[in-house]
Amino acid sequence: MDDMTAGRWRYTQAYLAEVFGVEDEAARGIRLGSERAGLDPIAVRADAARLLTLLARTTAARTAVEVGTLGGYSAWHILRGLGPDGRLITIERDPRAAEVARENLAHAGIADRVRVEVGRALDVLPRVAAELGARSVGLVFLDADKSEYAAYWGHLRPLLAEGGLLVADNVLGTGRWWIDDEAYPGRVAIDAFNRAITADPELEVAGLLVGQGVLVARRRRAGER
Ligand code: SAH
Ligand code: MG
Repeated sequence: MDDMTAGRWRYTQAYLAEVFGVEDEAARGIRLGSERAGLDPIAVRADAARLLTLLARTTAARTAVEVGTLGGYSAWHILRGLGPDGRLITIERDPRAAEVARENLAHAGIADRVRVEVGRALDVLPRVAAELGARSVGLVFLDADKSEYAAYWGHLRPLLAEGGLLVADNVLGTGRWWIDDEAYPGRVAIDAFNRAITADPELEVAGLLVGQGVLVARRRRAGER
């Protein structure tokens, strides 16, 4: 890693995608459905999506909240991990993307376990928070406006159950900026978010170099230190 070159970085990313990012037919169907509908190809990469499934399987509370639905690719992976008694509320600003997600998730046979809320997350979250109530959510996934992550988390933090997981995508970069591009507003906001999460004494936090950077945090149970 000390002599990480551009070529080695590219090889590493391709290797991760090839070995850890194998897609099954259902996942591929959602990706292709989203692309056919003309949505931007900005869903989490398959290797990060599989991490979502794995993490969702480990949580006790069977309710998840996602911010940033796009075509439902990450939503499908979260629901897969939650299993048949899991449910997901996912929030999407773009009505067209939300419609595509509903179609994709219906086609995958899991429409009854997911509710796609259309609107700006900061407008929708207060209602979702009131509906779900404190400590009821097993997994939160943030993947919408990178400069608003801290504000999303402000609404969602009280909802996260003990032992529940906060997962955030793009904590190292997006197609537009990377974490060493100091001037970008999105980068500044994400850096502040990453540091605030790691400073929260109620959370245990890891930063993973998967896709464009994934933060995983778990709310401690009472007495854990
Ligand atoms: N999680 C998805 C990808 C999400 S891409 C997946 O991996 O499959 C980011 C999405 O967030 C876009 O669809 C965009 O329309 C949505 N978004 C951006 N800002 C938002 C906001 N303020 N409120 C709700 N959704 C927003
Ligand atoms: Mg993302």
